[in-house]
Amino acid sequence: MRLRNVPGAREIMIENEFVFTEPENMAGTWKEVFGNNNPVRIEIGMGKGRFITTLAQMNPDINYIGIEKYSSVLLRAVEKQDELRLSNLRFIRMDAENIGDVFAKGEVDRIYLNFSDPWPKDRHAKRRLTSRQFLERYTDILKDDGYVEFKTDNRGLFDFSVEEVKESPKWELTTVTYDLHNDADLVEGNVMTEYEEKFSSQGNPICKLIARLK
Ligand code: SAM
Repeated sequence: MRLRNVPGAREIMIENEFVFTEPENMAGTWKEVFGNNNPVRIEIGMGKGRFITTLAQMNPDINYIGIEKYSSVLLRAVEKQDELRLSNLRFIRMDAENIGDVFAKGEVDRIYLNFSDPWPKDRHAKRRLTSRQFLERYTDILKDDGYVEFKTDNRGLFDFSVEEVKESPKWELTTVTYDLHNDADLVEGNVMTEYEEKFSSQGNPICKLIARLK
């Protein structure tokens, strides 16, 4: 994503009531944050947040946490949430590499990854959010039958991701499609992300996989 630095975004994040900028000691505390026992679902690399905000509006009995590395990107989602004030939506500004410090085992019900950065060079493969290294981190926070849903239009990244799941003994693939928007069984209820709208309007097919903990 091309990043436009927004002056003051960092300070806004630190002060905003819906954003956590120092989440390292929060593992095990999310029930208290939301004030209920509802399932917690997270999106890693949420960008401007349309997907997770829409889900939070649609499903008030599920708690959602959007995770984004950059304050300047997160800003748009935070401004929207300042208007909506959804009680089941929070944000974390962090690099997801340290996600295991932020959630206890079993605290997360589902992980969404949408149009994740491809990191095309082989030597950067472990930075891809669907790499085996990240899958291992997800096993530390997901509940036993939890799963990961991943969408992208990047076929190289998608093929890599399918292989990584197949190579990870703790995971199994339950769904794979190479054209989500023309798959009658899967497209119903699909919530579009900003990138999904942009790339599908250019004619790119959208791939999706669902991987479940065995
Ligand atoms: N998910 C959004 C969508 O589909 O419209 C945004 C996609 S954008 C290509 C990827 C986003 O993931 C960027 O905003 C980037 O800053 C964020 N990101 C990439 N790696 C990350 C990481 N390790 N931790 C947190 N956010 C990350």
